[in-house]
Amino acid sequence: MDDCGLSQGRLGTLGRMRAVSVIPGQENSLYLDTNAPEPDPDEGPVLVEAIAVGICGTDREVIAGEYGEAPPGAKRLILGHESLGRVLEDPTRTFAPGDLVAGIVRHPDPVPCPNCAAGEWDMCRNGRFTEHGIKARHGFARDRWRVQPDHAIRLAPTLDAVGVLLEPTSVVAKAWEHIERIGERARWTPRTALVTGAGPIGLLAALLGVQRGLEVHVLDRATAGPKPALAARLGAVYHHRGVPDLDLEPDVALECTGAPTVVLDVMEKIGPNGIACLTGVSSGGRRIALDAGHLNRQLVLENNVIFGTVNANRRHWRQAADALLQADIRWLDDLITRRVPLDRYPDAYTSPGNDVKAVLEFG
Ligand SMILES: [Zn+2]
Ligand SMILES: [Zn+2]
Repeated sequence: MDDCGLSQGRLGTLGRMRAVSVIPGQENSLYLDTNAPEPDPDEGPVLVEAIAVGICGTDREVIAGEYGEAPPGAKRLILGHESLGRVLEDPTRTFAPGDLVAGIVRHPDPVPCPNCAAGEWDMCRNGRFTEHGIKARHGFARDRWRVQPDHAIRLAPTLDAVGVLLEPTSVVAKAWEHIERIGERARWTPRTALVTGAGPIGLLAALLGVQRGLEVHVLDRATAGPKPALAARLGAVYHHRGVPDLDLEPDVALECTGAPTVVLDVMEKIGPNGIACLTGVSSGGRRIALDAGHLNRQLVLENNVIFGTVNANRRHWRQAADALLQADIRWLDDLITRRVPLDRYPDAYTSPGNDVKAVLEFG
């Protein structure tokens, strides 16, 4: 090993690398750049070798040209916001070579707004934040990437097969933190939680609900595939009919489908003093009838709170790392229903079908 923690063998591989890339705004521009330059040292002193990136709907939106922005002055954007890698070098000695890390997705806006100034970039006020693999900052779907030490989260070595789930877990860790902060406006003794949608966000939200000792109900349309068993193995009750058919008044609901009728049903379903947390991004454009007076009356008379949540800050990423460490690793491993090697990268971005989480593997 030399001073920077790189072996000569490793140095021999440096120079050019592979990077899953798109031209933002251009539909289906996904390609594998096999001659990408090494990560710019300006991106941070911590050099990381990629193990895997997770794929989600956001990646598919960027590939479809609906979303995404290249870094300033660049035409292309390297994809990947759900990361896992191994530290190659860190001259700041925050990390040791070999440490398992994930990179935090969002960076504070440059103004910064009062929230970003306080490290709460998930609550950015002006929308000028940047995000790896999504907005004005290259992502982690490349052989090597760099980060600032305070934008990397260390994971226990036992999480090397499943640590790529840290990013979606950070999103639900924030959701649960905010639910609890809202709950504490009065005496707070929740017993039941309803999670709508058994994708990765829904199932991870259910995991964190079970870890809090709640009776968790998971609702999804799927009657086949891995979802019912994944919910059952958590100790959650699985439902596949509509929300109105449920015989319960949940204290907490986490809506993870973004489907407009489900969102409204969840708002109606929560019990007295209930809290409904919305995490699903709807596409909009579809109108459904709503008795706004009835809904308002119920929200007022039952002290209900409906709130939205997105993204996560460093505190939530740390909470997520703790949650993964407490979870059954085999369950987390089974949440990853598809592992695609980099040379078959287009397969990783196809529509989910019976997938829960697809992961693109480097190495
Ligand atoms: Zn994602
Ligand atoms: Zn901000």
